Amino acid sequence: MNELEALYQEVILDHSRKPHNVGVCVAANRKARGHNPLCGDQLSLTLRVEDDTIREAKFDGLGCAISTASASMMTDAILGKTTTEAIALAEKFRSSILESDESAEELGSLVALRGVREFPTRVKCATLAWHTLMAALKECTQSVSTEVPETP
Ligand code: ZN
Repeated sequence: MNELEALYQEVILDHSRKPHNVGVCVAANRKARGHNPLCGDQLSLTLRVEDDTIREAKFDGLGCAISTASASMMTDAILGKTTTEAIALAEKFRSSILESDESAEELGSLVALRGVREFPTRVKCATLAWHTLMAALKECTQSVSTEVPETP
């Protein structure tokens, strides 16, 4: 293991031992639950979105070290972002893990989680929080967006 990888491991361990943003947003207006049956990780995410900006993000649940660290880092990363920016970040994270997209500028310390690419069974642990985030954010847009008509 090289120095950089060791540092990344440290980041993940820190977050899994002392996860940030644990709990429930009292004034939440976006909610979603995520479940990863492969590992048994369960996640409940609550967000308070005002003026299209994520003002508060909290999670609760039972999960392995990777899923807990990922949820902790995800909630840190999206604070203060607009919903559009948060969705873009979620997509970036997803492609970084699933499609080995190597560009990393926007991801910051989230690149630490890329280590799971070596362990296919843990990929869902790392992406669970982000899937749950997408669910929470998309739920709110469904009511205002209309069906995209099929192109003839
Ligand atoms: Zn897990």
